[in-house]
Amino acid sequence: MSTSEEFAGLTAIVTGGASGIGRSVAELLLESGANVAVFDLNPDGAPHGALGLQCDVSDRASVEAAVESAAAEYGGIDIVINNAGIGAQGQVDANDDAEWNKVLNVNVVSVARVTAAALPYLRKSEHAAVVNTSSIAATAGLPERVLYSATKGAIYSMTLAMAADHVREGIRINAVCPGTANTPWVMSGLMSKAEKPEEELRQLNARQPHGRLVEPVEVARSIAFLASPLQGSTTGSTLAVDGGMQGLRLRAE
Ligand code: NAD
Repeated sequence: MSTSEEFAGLTAIVTGGASGIGRSVAELLLESGANVAVFDLNPDGAPHGALGLQCDVSDRASVEAAVESAAAEYGGIDIVINNAGIGAQGQVDANDDAEWNKVLNVNVVSVARVTAAALPYLRKSEHAAVVNTSSIAATAGLPERVLYSATKGAIYSMTLAMAADHVREGIRINAVCPGTANTPWVMSGLMSKAEKPEEELRQLNARQPHGRLVEPVEVARSIAFLASPLQGSTTGSTLAVDGGMQGLRLRAE
């Protein structure tokens, strides 16, 4: 089977598919033959060929409407990529209740919300798969990232529990845990704060075990691998895409 046929006839939802990692996933799945519906606050950034749907994953009515639109357009849903997410910085006293509720809603509750809305369609699919974007933050103990880490840890453990619930139905559920990736989110954060952005970027690269940021397409390839109908026995797994940061338990100086 050629790469271009791997996802032929399958329909995928990619949340946050208009930028960064999600956009790269949407492009790759399109190239591999899938129908792709991008759920995003700003769907204009969805790649050519995708169905861009304006959707706020923190809002149930918005998600349900987008799921029904995607299913109506393509006749079903086989794959859900729960990728939309936002950042949060600081120690345990940095974020007020409104910020906690907002980030938990966008990053965590959205995974349950989108998956639950798509579940009736996934149950009808021969190749149902869900891939959630967690992070190295789930398990690494990153400084100044308490709220963000809580959300990514929740996605990590939800992935395992959801996989157990749906394995007998043939719905595979996995997660990727990217390290720091070269996406608009990371780069704009770097450029907005640093006095010397080039030096900050050099130091950020140097802190990665393999000496550079993770490329979005590398995460996208891992997500596509886990979503692929060729991986029928892979479920409840969490794949690190972090240059060895977590697996090697080292941090280059
Ligand atoms: P990005 O900001 O480039 O893209 C995120 C996309 O999500 C944007 O298109 C944005 O419009 C969309 N989005 C945000 N809130 C939304 C909402 N409420 N409803 C619908 N869409 C919404 O980000 P990215 O760096 O590509 O990150 C994607 C995912 O990868 C996130 O879950 C993030 O936590 C995770 N991640 C990123 C990194 C990294 O270093 N970039 C590392 C580990 C994990």
